[in-house]
Amino acid sequence: MSYCRRGLDGSDVYIYPAVDYIVCDRCSLHGGSTHQERDAAGMLEHALEHRAAGHHVPDAAVERLRREAEPDRDADSPEERLGDWLSDRAKDGEG
Ligand SMILES: [Zn+2]
Repeated sequence: MSYCRRGLDGSDVYIYPAVDYIVCDRCSLHGGSTHQERDAAGMLEHALEHRAAGHHVPDAAVERLRREAEPDRDADSPEERLGDWLSDRAKDGEG
């Protein structure tokens, strides 16, 4: 799922995840060529560069990049996630 689409929510940029990187499609900061960042932290910085240049990047896109760039901030630990997964699985089995 894309982070934001050009024209949607007034966005001036189109950012979407690819397999090994995150893409800023036809980036206006790079003369309309496709810009790639290796991870969410890099793309977060890039999105803020767009904002600094006066382009509109929806809050939801920036927030999502921020969450993905700093997964430890409010996400469950891997152990907790595994526990959730196991209990979900157990519930499925009962159902
Ligand atoms: Zn860009």
